[in-house]
Parts: sequence; structure tokens; C-alpha cells
Amino acid sequence: MNLYDLLARGFPADRSRPAFLLGDGGEVSYAELEAGAAQVAGHLLARGVRPGDRVGLQAEKSVEAVTIYLGALKAGAVFLPLNAAYTAAEVDYFVEDAEPAVFVTDPRSFLAEAQAAAPLAQAVPRADDDVASLIYTSGTTGRSKGAMLSHGNLAANAVALHRAWGFTPDDVLLHALPIFHVHGLFVALHCAFLSGAPMVWLPRFDDAQVIAGLARSTVMMGVPTFYSRLLANPQFTRERAQHMRLFISGSAPLLESTFAEFEERTGARILERYGMSEAVIITTNPLDGERIPGSVGYPLPGVELRIGGGEETGVIEIRGPSVFSGYWRMPEKTAEEFTADGFFKTGDVGRRDLDGRVWISGRAKDLIISGGYNVYPKEIELVLDELAGVTESAVVGVPHPDFGEGVVAVVIGAGDEASMIAECRRQLAPYKSPKRIVFVEDLPRNAMGKVQKNLLRDRYTDLFTAG
Ligand code: AMP
Repeated sequence: MNLYDLLARGFPADRSRPAFLLGDGGEVSYAELEAGAAQVAGHLLARGVRPGDRVGLQAEKSVEAVTIYLGALKAGAVFLPLNAAYTAAEVDYFVEDAEPAVFVTDPRSFLAEAQAAAPLAQAVPRADDDVASLIYTSGTTGRSKGAMLSHGNLAANAVALHRAWGFTPDDVLLHALPIFHVHGLFVALHCAFLSGAPMVWLPRFDDAQVIAGLARSTVMMGVPTFYSRLLANPQFTRERAQHMRLFISGSAPLLESTFAEFEERTGARILERYGMSEAVIITTNPLDGERIPGSVGYPLPGVELRIGGGEETGVIEIRGPSVFSGYWRMPEKTAEEFTADGFFKTGDVGRRDLDGRVWISGRAKDLIISGGYNVYPKEIELVLDELAGVTESAVVGVPHPDFGEGVVAVVIGAGDEASMIAECRRQLAPYKSPKRIVFVEDLPRNAMGKVQKNLLRDRYTDLFTAG
């Protein structure tokens, strides 16, 4: 089935109900969204777009951009969203690689043009394994890869999440995420559409706007920095959050201190889940049942998850209906990333406890090898984060003349380096303890709030070798 049809089945019977609640008090109804998607689909077909052709979009977040997404699905095209922040040179790469038939940079005028087309009534039929979207991974090393997500991948994940998180037509989803990434584009939109629920639609995260928007919402999805920024605002009080049914976090690790402070302030326990472009959502803490800080919960129904390598901690491998089929035009890279029995090697290192919960200790490529020993940065970060004066930490390995790599802690906060290192050595084996601690005001992050450790490694690469 075309994913569009699945989503449209969730739209409310009364299509005059709002899909988007806008900041200025305006609304866009499901009827308008549906009509817009039909116009876009008709327009794409009239321009010669064929099933499987890519439709690229690089623009700021807007209702029009969502309409183009749905129209592209309906036309059987492959939707290719790009971060509006990409430079022309970066876009050149994606355009050359993906060869889109249509590339939209001005959604509003594209929709205006589409009004002249005959609307497409029936979605172009698609099979489960036909590609619905191409999502380029943020890729910190090498060429950015286009993950091919099929209609079946996205449908399976949407249905599983809608159920796991208990969405109903009475929900109102606060949407402040970007829509060029799986989190805001698939996870959030699909849950709302399958419920026929409205979204409080914010162009970006702004703490004051989010606090105001919460008054009309029941569920919020965010990256961890959304939650820490809310907590930094004294206007964010228990009263503001009290009626909320659910706060969900993902795309980067949620600090245990953020989880604890959030619970203290609001009484709510943030539900953390884990996902990636190649598989959308993989695990989630339970809606009913204990949400444990530091764990990303259990695999979604249908997802098989195992730890590769034969040790307790190792690379997480997954298989299931939402796992992508491969990287666009990279058959060799794809083959490398799958095991012989069809599990995708996520590149995340983690373990499962006896209860089946998954705990992530970081990316495999962030693993530090110091003096021949494996050092998992997360273990050191957890110790540092508990020290007085530390808000957040990021531990990386950089070249060291004796140890191969030396452990460096980059810390938001202030303190005495020598006594902090001494405290780490009381709690950790010497080879794990940071050899240097650098204090900073903030850590480099990407648009999803993920700390960019590659940039830290570059920045401190000479720390032990200079002079
Ligand atoms: P992306 O493909 O850009 O969404 O990045 C996916 C990566 O984000 C995963 O492979 C993880 O490394 C990381 N990630 C996502 N959610 C979590 C989480 N809840 N805890 C820790 N890491 C996460």
C-alpha cells in the first residue's frame, strides 16, 4: 500500500478539523492538507514525474513543505528532504547523487503553481519495498549516505509507534522539531496523522513559544536540548506541564540529570527512545511501566535486536520491518553494514540487561583505545556529570605518544582540573580516567542537538603531541 493511503486513513472523518494550529492563532484543516497534497501529486505527474523519481525539498519548515511531502508520496515519488542550512556546495553533492526530477526551494510558490494542475484522486500504488524517502545521514566521516526508506518501512514504524505511545484523536502534538530529519518528519508527523490529531506547529524550538504551546498540547516530542532549555526557563513550571500526557525524547542521549530535574520540576518522567535514519525508531521506554533514565527501553514489537561481537557490550544489530533496505547507489557500503543473516550493524555500542532493556554507551567510532584498552566514553561521562560544577561532559580520544589515544574530557562548567582528575581516578581505572579536562561554555552540536565528537577530536588533536 502507498504510505499516503495509510496516513490518510488516520485523518479525522470530519476533515474540517485542524491538522496544524499555527502561532498566530490560524489553523490549517485536514481538508486543506488533503486537497493540497492532491494538487501537488497531480502537478508532479503532469510535470512528468514517474514513480521512483526523487522530489527534493530544501526549505524552512512550513505547512507547505509538509503538503509537498504528502503530495510526493501520493504521486509515488521518493521524497528527499534537505536541511535548509546546507550551503550551495553541499546541496550540489546531494543533487548530483540523488538526481531529483524536481527540486523545490520555495514551497509556497510551488503550491501556487500546483493549483493549476488536476488534483490526483487516487494515490499511485506502491509496493511495501518501493522507496518512499531518501534520508541523507548527517555522516561525520566520508560521504553522506542516502538511506532508502520504503513505504513498508515507514508504515510499519508509524503503526508501531502510534500504538506504543497510545496516540488517540484527542491528542495534540507539540511539533517544534525540524522536518528534514526522521524525528520531525516521520516520527512526529506520522503519529499525528494516524491519530487524525492536530499539531501545535512551531517553526523551530523557542522556549517561550513552546511553553505557550504546551497549554494547548497533550504530547511533546523533542531532542534532549529542548528539555534542558525548558528547564533553564523559570516560566516552565509544574502547572505548565501538569495536563501533559507525555514528553518524549530522542535523537541524542538524554542526560540523567535532565531526566531527574525534569521529574523534580514537573512530576513527569520523560520517555526516552532510540532511533536512527536507517530504521526510524528502534527501541522505546514503555508508556505504561517504568521509564528508566539512561536506558532507551525495549525494542519495538517486530524489531529483533542483538549485540554483535560475542561480548556483553558490543555493536547493536537490528532486523525488522522498519530497517531500511540500503544506501542509495552504494551496494558495497550497504553490504558491509549488514550481517550475512540480514541484521543491520547500527554502529551504536550498547548492551541489554537481564530484563531486556537496552543501554547505549556511544557510537563505535567514538570508542577510545588507550594503552590497548577499550574505553567507552559514556562510562567516564557518567562519572564526570556527577561532579560539582559539571553541567555536561563529552569524552574523546586524541593521539597520545605513549598510549595511542589519550582520554580527554571536554566539560561544560568550571572547576579545578587536577582535583577533578583525582576524583575520576578514585572511581575509575587509571586507563579510563581523563588525562586532561578542558572547560568550555558549550559543546558543538548538530541541528538535532547531538554533540559532534569529531569536531572535538579535531580541536584537541594536538593536546598530547604538540611540542
Ligand atoms: P540520525 O540518523 O541522525 O537520527 O542519528 C542516529 C543516531 O543518534 C543513533 O545511531 C544514535 O547514535 C543516536 N541516538 C538516537 N537516539 C538516541 C538515544 N535515545 N540515546 C543515545 N543515542 C541516540
